[in-house]
Amino acid sequence: MKTISIVIPAFNEEGNLRKIRDEIDLVFKNLTDYHYEIIFVNDGSRDNSQSTLELLGAEFAEVKFLEFSRNFGHQHAVKAGLDFAQGNAVISMDADLQHPPQLIPQLIHYWEQGYDLVYTLREYNQSASYFKKKTSDVFYKILVSLSDVEIEKGSSDFRLMDASVVEVVRKADETDLFLRGLSKWVGFKQHAVSYTAGDRFAGESKYSLKKMIKFAFTGITAFSVKPLYVASYLGFFFSFLGLLYIPYVIYAFITKTEISGWASLIMSIVFFGGVQLIILGILGIYIGKMFVQLKNRPNYIIKSKNF
Ligand code: UDP
Ligand code: MG
Repeated sequence: MKTISIVIPAFNEEGNLRKIRDEIDLVFKNLTDYHYEIIFVNDGSRDNSQSTLELLGAEFAEVKFLEFSRNFGHQHAVKAGLDFAQGNAVISMDADLQHPPQLIPQLIHYWEQGYDLVYTLREYNQSASYFKKKTSDVFYKILVSLSDVEIEKGSSDFRLMDASVVEVVRKADETDLFLRGLSKWVGFKQHAVSYTAGDRFAGESKYSLKKMIKFAFTGITAFSVKPLYVASYLGFFFSFLGLLYIPYVIYAFITKTEISGWASLIMSIVFFGGVQLIILGILGIYIGKMFVQLKNRPNYIIKSKNF
C-alpha cells in the first residue's frame, strides 16, 4: 500500500488544524488504496497551535508534528516537512483550507498516471480582495520577466511531489528558499491542475504587504541574476548618452556659450545618484545573500516532534 505524506506549515492556525485534519481524513476515507500521514510544521506559532497539535497527535496515529524553536517562515516550514516525509508522494498545502483537500484525489490521479510533480494553479473566487488579486498579478508579471525560471500565474505551494522529486528538493540547502521556483527548476514530468481558492477558514493571512514585497524580491533574486545584468545595461546606456554629450560641451566651450544651466546639472546629479543607488542596492542584495548562505547556519531548528 502506498503512503501519501501531507505537509502543512502552520503559523498561528489553532482554529484550522482540527478542521483540516478532519477534511483530509474524509478525503482518504474514499481513497482506500492509500495510507496517509499528516506532518504539521508549527512555525513558531504564538497561539495554541502547539497544544492543539499535541492533542491531535495523541488522538490520531496519522498526525505528526514538528515544532520549530521560532518562526522560520513558510518556505522553510514546508522544507522541514519534506525533509521528514516518508511517503511515496508528498503533498504540501496551507493550513487555512484555502487549498481544498477535495483536490487531493485529482493530484494523486495524475501522479498515478506517471507525472512526478502535480502542481496547482489558483483561480481567485469573487470574495478575494481586489488588492490581493492585483498584487498577485503584478507579482507574477515581475517574477516572470526578471527570473530565469518560468513561474505560472496563480501557482502556490499546493503541489504533489513524487518521492524522487522530494529527494532532489531535500538536497537544496538554501537559506533563500523559493519552492515555487525550485519545483519548476528541478524538471521531471509535471502537470498542472486548476482550482478556485476558497476563503480562509479561521484566523487571518500571515502575508502582510511588507512580507509580500520581501517574498517578491526573494522570488526574483533567488532564481536569477538578471537584475545584475539590468544594472550593467543601464550603465552602458547612460555612458553612451554621456559620450553623445561631449561634442556639445566642446562646442559650448569653443563658442563661449557655456552654460548657465544649473538646473540641468542638478537634475542629472540627482538622477544618476538615484540610478547608482539602485544598482548598489541590487549588488547589496546578492552580496547579502552570499553572506547569509556562507555562514551555513541551519535553516530551521526543531524544538520537539512526536515521531
Ligand atoms: N505560514 C507559516 N509561516 C509563516 C507564515 C505563514 O508557516 O511565517 C503558513 C500559514 O500558517 C499557512 C501558509 O503558510 O498555512 C500560508 O499562509 P497564509 O494563509 O497566511 O498566506 P496567504 O494565503 O494569505 O497568501
Ligand atoms: Mg491562506
